[in-house]
Amino acid sequence: MEEKKSCATMEKLVNLCKSRGIIFPGSEIYGGMGNTWDYGPVGVEIKNNIKRAWWKRFVQESANSFGVDAAILMNPRVWEASGHTASFSDPKMDCKECKMRARADNLIEAHSKGAVNPDAMSQEEMQEYINEHQVRCPNCGNFNWTPIRNFNLMFQTSRGVTDESTNVIYLRPETAQGEFVNFLNVQRTARAKVPFGIAQIGKAFRNEITPGNFIFRTIEFEQMEHQWFCKEGTDQEYYADFKEKAWNFLLDLGFDQNHLRFKDHDKLALYAKSACDIQYLFPIGWSELNGIHNRTNYDLSRHEEYSGKNMMYLDPVTNEKYTPYVIEYSIGADRLMLAVLSEAYDEEKLEGGDTRVVMHFHPSIAAYKCAILPLQKNLGDKAKEIYNELKKYFMVSYDEAGSIGKRYRRQDEIGTPYCVTIDFDTLEDNTVTVRDRDTMEQVRIKVADLKNFILDKIAF
Ligand code: ATP
Repeated sequence: MEEKKSCATMEKLVNLCKSRGIIFPGSEIYGGMGNTWDYGPVGVEIKNNIKRAWWKRFVQESANSFGVDAAILMNPRVWEASGHTASFSDPKMDCKECKMRARADNLIEAHSKGAVNPDAMSQEEMQEYINEHQVRCPNCGNFNWTPIRNFNLMFQTSRGVTDESTNVIYLRPETAQGEFVNFLNVQRTARAKVPFGIAQIGKAFRNEITPGNFIFRTIEFEQMEHQWFCKEGTDQEYYADFKEKAWNFLLDLGFDQNHLRFKDHDKLALYAKSACDIQYLFPIGWSELNGIHNRTNYDLSRHEEYSGKNMMYLDPVTNEKYTPYVIEYSIGADRLMLAVLSEAYDEEKLEGGDTRVVMHFHPSIAAYKCAILPLQKNLGDKAKEIYNELKKYFMVSYDEAGSIGKRYRRQDEIGTPYCVTIDFDTLEDNTVTVRDRDTMEQVRIKVADLKNFILDKIAF
């Protein structure tokens, strides 16, 4: 395996994110709330850019793919049909000594140092492993667990003014069902012919009990999901296609392919024909970044069964009626954000012995596309004029505080690809110096060419 180039540790990322307005701990002034995080002024731009790049690739540039934005709160029957009410659960154990709650699968993975794959084990096999190996509590070191129990990950709330169980509804644990229930609405209104896709970006909620590792695992997160509806028989071809598309998307965002790998699932869900993840070499080790599944016609069939509504597709050419298969591609926007942060992070030794921290984001992902830096405050008028013009086209930062070196460092740390310095020559000849974040090389260009110079570089 290749050595990881990035020198990012989770601690360094958390600290940088906090100090530079990328991500703050959730509800911080109240002591925080486990597994929740708030995006700051820089972070929200980066995350929006990630979502925009994904949407551009999988909706805008994708022939026959359509977007939706479905409700978070869905009829509870949806979750019965999807199987979430009965079995969307983690195997949890409580330590009777220190009361820590842990996931049996995580305990086994950590105890065996990754040699045993708990995903391929039944609950009984997990219990046997833990007893046989006397797997201890990572918090207090004792071996005194409750038996494994399944813990449903869906957040419940109630609708209306009374608390009766009949009013229980759930915050969606995945966005996918919003795409499935709208299959025919989209097909008819977009006049789509199978094969076609439905995509969605939106919040999902899971009552995760394991430690979060920053934004890797949170209780509230955004998913970017694309369901491709196709005819049985063509499904495996499209499954391979989506593996390739998902992989290329990451390479185009600037990921080193040595930091990515495919991992087939050892145990398939009962409805799945094939399933794999793309894993990324996160600071915590190789872990799932996204999933690609051939879900067969399970979802549409189940919704047909539970809703009593016909979910079949009528082929207008052959008059054949069938329930399409679904290839699902699903990636967490926050988890991708963590991977992007980790991949971009670098510490570079400079001539003279200093070190600079620099985020080598793809320019399309960077929060600000350029920073306007007047060399002296009395150049502010000209600098503001340039700033006001450029910000009509993309996000621009303006900074006149501190030495130019310090200002460069601040922009490097948030990954601004271009720093534009305004000096006294600018007043004479209407040219500025543009410094490249990665090479630190500087070129002199005309103010009139600046907009197109930057627009060219930031396209995804
Ligand atoms: P994991 O095994 O890590 O719990 P999963 O297999 O349950 O993930 P899916 O249900 O396939 O994940 O969700 C699709 C994607 O959503 C994941 O690949 C991941 O990028 C993201 N995701 C899932 N759960 C979380 C979470 N709790 N926090 C942040 N992102 C998540």
